[in-house]
Amino acid sequence: ALNDDASVVPEPVSTADGRPIEVAANVGSAAELSPARDRGADGIGLFRTEFLFLDRESPPDEEEQYEAVVAALEAFPNDRVVVRTLDVGGDKRVPYLDLPEEPNPFLGRRGIRLSLEEHADLFERQLRALLRAAAHGGNEAAAGDLAVMFPMVSRIEEVEAALDAVESVAADLADEGVEHAVPELGAMVETPAAAFLADALANRLDFLSVGTNDLAGYVMVADRENDGVADYHDPLHPAVLRAIDRTTRGAEGTHAWVGMCGEMAGDPALTELLVGLGLEELSMSAVTVPAVKTRVREVDSAAARDLAEEALACETRGEVREVVGLDG
Ligand code: PEP
Ligand code: MG
Repeated sequence: ALNDDASVVPEPVSTADGRPIEVAANVGSAAELSPARDRGADGIGLFRTEFLFLDRESPPDEEEQYEAVVAALEAFPNDRVVVRTLDVGGDKRVPYLDLPEEPNPFLGRRGIRLSLEEHADLFERQLRALLRAAAHGGNEAAAGDLAVMFPMVSRIEEVEAALDAVESVAADLADEGVEHAVPELGAMVETPAAAFLADALANRLDFLSVGTNDLAGYVMVADRENDGVADYHDPLHPAVLRAIDRTTRGAEGTHAWVGMCGEMAGDPALTELLVGLGLEELSMSAVTVPAVKTRVREVDSAAARDLAEEALACETRGEVREVVGLDG
């Protein structure tokens, strides 16, 4: 593990010059909640709801999803919990969902596309659970703030349709007299299209979260699961860095915050670069939270911006690695 020598920092951290950086955990099962808290995570930056749908014969009902999200909110009573709506397709298959057979599933119907086109029923059910869970914070002093984000966004129309779906679920719950609230809403930036459209996304949403696992794959046209192209699938390629920069720049001047929840966020050797690129939140496997928090405190944000500018000017991955102090 990267951080076995770093001790846990339970409180939120800021850079040496006082810029707050939220260091959150990625969670892919209920069992990961308390280790994330024990490692000092400031909240959950990516709650992968897929686990609720795997290893079973049929999808979870509204109540089960509601309870799973409330459990996450209760594990982080004073912090934000970012829940991603169902992200299947591509590398994430669920047998009973009867996903379309496609020659190139990574370029096919996945993430928000499936939620809007094939499984509007499941999407609605999940949104009901999420809007109900969002009200939980208001009722119990013990619960923090819920945020909800949509995966694999590539078109503004998808965000508009997703926002319409949220609005219509809220209206239904109101009609039924069911307690609910509309959480913060965001999009993952995992496609080049989303990075190019970051300004338009940020104008419509409360936050963006860069998913470098998929973004690196789509910018570099390299399957994240194919070892034969592992050298291509690296967020330190200048093209990927420029996509990240495009995203943070796009959101500048809007009220939306920008975080990162891909694996890149958890590498303490890249913390200064990411702060310099303008990320305000970093979400990662719990195990790397202490090392990244420790690193954030050492970073000077003006020096970090200079480092980012230098990295963005590079033309090759080797040059970037040298600039950030990794082997060429
Ligand atoms: C990503 O693509 O970077 C991401 C965080 O989502 P996942 O790894 O679940 O696809
Ligand atoms: Mg992804």
